[in-house]
Amino acid sequence: MKTRHDTDLLEQELERLEPLARKLETPAADRNRRLEAVHAYASDYLDAQGAAPAYTRSPDLSAGLLDTPISETGAGLDAALDVLDRYVDHEGLNTTSGRFTGYVPGGGVYESALGDYLAAVTNRYAGVFFASPGAVRMENQLVRWMAGLVGFPAEAGGYLSAGGSLANLTAVVTARDVHGIEAGAVPRAVVYLSDHAHHCVDKALRVAGLGRAVLRRVPVDEAWRMDAGALASAIEDDLDDGLMPWLVVASAGTTNTGSVDPLADIADVADRHGLWFHVDAAYGGFFLLTETGKNRLRGIERAHSVVMDPHKTLFLPYGSGALIVRDGALIRQSHLSDASYMQDARAADGEWSPAHMSPELTKHFRGLRMWLPLQVHGVAPFRDALDEKLVLARWAWERLRASDRFEVGPKPDLTVVTFRLRGSDEANRRLLEAVHQDGRVFFSSTVIDGRFTLRLAIVSFRSHLDDIRLTLDVLEELAASHD
Ligand SMILES: *Cc1c(COP(=O)(O)O)cnc(C)c1O
Repeated sequence: MKTRHDTDLLEQELERLEPLARKLETPAADRNRRLEAVHAYASDYLDAQGAAPAYTRSPDLSAGLLDTPISETGAGLDAALDVLDRYVDHEGLNTTSGRFTGYVPGGGVYESALGDYLAAVTNRYAGVFFASPGAVRMENQLVRWMAGLVGFPAEAGGYLSAGGSLANLTAVVTARDVHGIEAGAVPRAVVYLSDHAHHCVDKALRVAGLGRAVLRRVPVDEAWRMDAGALASAIEDDLDDGLMPWLVVASAGTTNTGSVDPLADIADVADRHGLWFHVDAAYGGFFLLTETGKNRLRGIERAHSVVMDPHKTLFLPYGSGALIVRDGALIRQSHLSDASYMQDARAADGEWSPAHMSPELTKHFRGLRMWLPLQVHGVAPFRDALDEKLVLARWAWERLRASDRFEVGPKPDLTVVTFRLRGSDEANRRLLEAVHQDGRVFFSSTVIDGRFTLRLAIVSFRSHLDDIRLTLDVLEELAASHD
């Protein structure tokens, strides 16, 4: 009876292990206590935002975090929250501040956090339709909603990505395959984009095996929008030289300046020459909710693919991008793959699976963090907040324009305001450093036409007139003290 004896031993071992392993199942009373502790922490954090600095730089750059190592027994929730409080949540950029206008801010609407909480508790598998028809329907519903904003037809498809970089990569891969750009052809394949296109497009091209493709930097006009005439000439020259133009990347809201490329004119050129027309609207896409944005982005409906970042202009916390392709079947051609161990999950009646439209298989159920805020608030306050940002940007631009101290860039297409202190690059750099030292407000800089340029990107749902007024007051005050 050797077998019998073996299972007895194994059962003894399991009796010992089970109560130890069960510690991972938190009892209801502990769940409530922990949730309350986390809720109290989050509430304190949010309540303090009105007065919190937009930027804090500590001498040790959060190195104290490492004094709490990952250990056998753990530090416990209270100690862990204390570490967060001391070393994480008050250092560096405070992207939840209304006075944070650096880079392209996000925001973090609260209901999105609740969506993340529920997504993690229920752990629905949003990769394939079979696994969670409801989760996949929800994500595809959101994609269709965005496709509707863009003005795409019913056969549009796409997926919710972790961010704009991944969505741009998926678009590039899809376009590459539609145009049949294979290894040997890469050095003759030409991509058109302006100097203001986001650097993740360059990265996407490299990751997609197109690093040796020809990148044609199309000139921009005085408002830093791609010159569609110059695009047409460049394509004609390249065709004459025996090259293969195949992709044009326009920006609907460049990160640098918020400028919107002339999408309809670019669509004409792309149509004429059979190029894939990709619009990177990671920053600007959700302005389509507003009348102003719809006018500025006219022509986007003629794109083959569009990237939008809900973690920017839909004010979600980081971790939400989206790719929408006019003909959804094309994205699947590049990303559909299968395996024997997935045979039970194949049935796709009803909805396409996100896993068949992206590089990911298992993924965060990220639809819920977008769906819940939209269901709780409705679309209207998002539209109103975006309209408010558009007006705030105009207000900041007008105020800076009226100041003797500063010179402004072009009137903002969307919500990025570029300006400079009249004077040297060095003076501008010193002023920005003073703003960062001060920390009450935060904005960042860029280089345009070789000149150090300051920029406000007004994107947070928490940015209102008082915040932007303070930003300009701090700027004037520090500029005056550096005269
Ligand atoms: C932010 C941004 C990206 C990159 O998106 P991530 O979400 O940061 O990966 C791409 N393009 C534009 C225009 C952007 O503003």
